[in-house]
Amino acid sequence: MAKRRIVLTFPPSMVEKPLTYRLVKDFDLAINILYARIVPRESGRLVIELSNSSEENINAGIRFLEEQGVSVEPLSKEIRWDEKECINCGACTAVCHSDALYMNPETWKLEFDKDKCIVCEMCVPACPLRIISVTF
Ligand code: SF4
Ligand code: SF4
Repeated sequence: MAKRRIVLTFPPSMVEKPLTYRLVKDFDLAINILYARIVPRESGRLVIELSNSSEENINAGIRFLEEQGVSVEPLSKEIRWDEKECINCGACTAVCHSDALYMNPETWKLEFDKDKCIVCEMCVPACPLRIISVTF
């Protein structure tokens, strides 16, 4: 199964168009929405994971989005967490809306689920020890 994580930024005129519906219907893509900020009459931002058995369907879906005026970028950044220095204060979990950072209820230690991270970078300034950073 081919998968691709991408960041979509679209202008206000596109916000109310059924783009994800078209990706599913016309290109047979499965869509996992990792993050969405869509406000009527403002520009929108979506982080999604596209999957299909064929890379070509994914490429065709991305071409379709670009033809509609949507900016498409790969989700290529990553969050790095220096686990050895962590004091497990939990401050970063309060700003992590995707639950990628969470406290293990048994150990009360911080856990990081990289697959859930949408690289919103909210946790970077939230850490008092500055041990979370972004890599490219
Ligand atoms: S960048 Fe930080 S706050 Fe944002 S989703 Fe990833 S772990 Fe959570
Ligand atoms: S805010 Fe920093 S020190 Fe506190 S739990 Fe998160 S990574 Fe660890």
